[in-house]
Amino acid sequence: MSNAPITHPCIENGWFMEKNDQWPGQAMSLKVEEVLHHEKSKYQDVLVFQSSNYGNVLVLDNVIQATERDEFSYQEMITHLAMNSHPNPKKVLVIGGGDGGVLREVVKHESVEEAVLVDIDEAVPRVSKKYLPNMAIGFEHPKVKVHIGDGFEFLKDKTNQYDVIITDSSDPDGPAESLFGAEFFQLLKNALTEKGVFSTQGECMWLHLPLIKKVMNFCKDLYPRVEYAYTCIPTYPSGQIGHIICSKDPNAKLREPLRSFTREQEEKLLRYYNADIHKAAFVLPQFAKKVLYEQ
Ligand code: SAM
Repeated sequence: MSNAPITHPCIENGWFMEKNDQWPGQAMSLKVEEVLHHEKSKYQDVLVFQSSNYGNVLVLDNVIQATERDEFSYQEMITHLAMNSHPNPKKVLVIGGGDGGVLREVVKHESVEEAVLVDIDEAVPRVSKKYLPNMAIGFEHPKVKVHIGDGFEFLKDKTNQYDVIITDSSDPDGPAESLFGAEFFQLLKNALTEKGVFSTQGECMWLHLPLIKKVMNFCKDLYPRVEYAYTCIPTYPSGQIGHIICSKDPNAKLREPLRSFTREQEEKLLRYYNADIHKAAFVLPQFAKKVLYEQ
């Protein structure tokens, strides 16, 4: 085992810089204390480093996936916006989510009987268990089952099985490309139960409005209820990430939580999500509202 420090092409002069064609002309940078792991898995470049101010950071194909300091914002919102929009979620599917953070959130709901996670890359859970223990704790719950495989393929023979499906994927330029196409949203609909709800990693309104609009249009052809919400998160491009939330139930409200945690549970279990921010997350600035809802 070499003792030479691990290097990476995105780390220069002690800083990780997230340059990417998906967000031209801007790049989030984080100061690196130590590079902890780097490998080329079967599907993607996997990097973990200890940052000076954001804890350990997971990077896939040079894109920040999660940092220990701010991951809770995203994991809580992509999970609880959907889970609290379903009357009684028992069987839940997570597609992607290989760091374990969404699973950690799903099992906070007592109604859950089974949470299945499908991630294409065995390297991500393996590396997360070693370097991101507060997220990977999600894998330890007795209600959790993990399947390594392509989420798109996994869905092909599933009908009427899941009350909530959460697609916590990386961006569309890589193994997650099929998770942003129209066919995927039909497969999701087949796999969901009658009042089924799903939420997705819905990119960023400052950077990806055309893509978000396209995906929402796919969904409007398939689901009676389609909404867009967003979360503030310092280390994602432009400090935000969105979620497309859909329900097969024409009477579902989505913008108002159907179920809520008690104030005590909010205190004990959560650091970002609460009933008020559930509602606020769907309130969009004028430029985004016009494109996503009025054109
Ligand atoms: N929260 C992050 C975000 O918003 O960008 C996503 C984090 S999670 C680590 C992303 C996961 O999606 C990775 O573990 C990756 O292996 C997985 N993934 C990508 N394409 C996939 C596919 N087709 N099927 C299943 N998992 C996939």
